[in-house]
Amino acid sequence: MSSRLAVLRIATAAVLTLAMAGCSAPLSENWVRYSFAPAPEDSGQAAETPPATDQGTKPEAERTPPNCSKVKCVALTFDDGPGKYTPELLSLLDQYDAKATFFLIGKNVKKHPQIVRDELSKGHEIGNHTWSHKDLTKVSIAAAKRDLQKTDDAIKEATGTDPTLVRPPFGALPRSLKKNLSVPIALWDVDTLDWKTRNTKSTIKAAEKIVPGSIVLMHDIHKSTIDAVPAILKDLSSKGYHFVTVTELIGHPNPGIGYGSGQRPATSKG
Ligand SMILES: [Zn+2]
Repeated sequence: MSSRLAVLRIATAAVLTLAMAGCSAPLSENWVRYSFAPAPEDSGQAAETPPATDQGTKPEAERTPPNCSKVKCVALTFDDGPGKYTPELLSLLDQYDAKATFFLIGKNVKKHPQIVRDELSKGHEIGNHTWSHKDLTKVSIAAAKRDLQKTDDAIKEATGTDPTLVRPPFGALPRSLKKNLSVPIALWDVDTLDWKTRNTKSTIKAAEKIVPGSIVLMHDIHKSTIDAVPAILKDLSSKGYHFVTVTELIGHPNPGIGYGSGQRPATSKG
């Protein structure tokens, strides 16, 4: 072949290689966060908000999570906080080097930003649980998006980082909203019903349903739940469980996909 043709072929190959590299680049680069305008009540306040980086919170130390395909793992999750009992819970988790996932209510984030920073700095994972615990299937899609964004914004303002998961209240999410999500949806498969019983013994008993790979639903706004945590941690720890975040448990969860099979809106508060 002529040298000119050879050069052309090399150039074509280079272009193809670049194109293929583009296809295999991390999908996260292509995902956009909820694509909608800020909530109307937020407009005009942006200039007064201090830059998030001023309060940037990073985990104290990088840790290597356990390999959950080889060892027993469980993801304890706590919804509806942060609240006045959350600091006590964080201390309990620390005693077992347990990592958990917190699904936060936006208006509670505004009330307790330091607790949210503590959660993150201790290596726990943060998820969005809406601004005020709305059932997102009972409002317009636009309103649901605004609600999630407002909550994301509050978490970002408090910590300097975005939440990495979403858990819709009651596990209820309009199908058309799913494809807009830039983060995975974390449901659950063990529901302790702690919000309903408000009973420490019942919560401990419900945790006996935990198996390796479980995502466990609890609420850190109830003292009865906090009081159940030491026994649950002790029992699972003695059985060889590692306490990991939802993302650590799943590995590489995909945006818009729901994890955990326990979506039972009729009986579950979420
Ligand atoms: Zn909830």
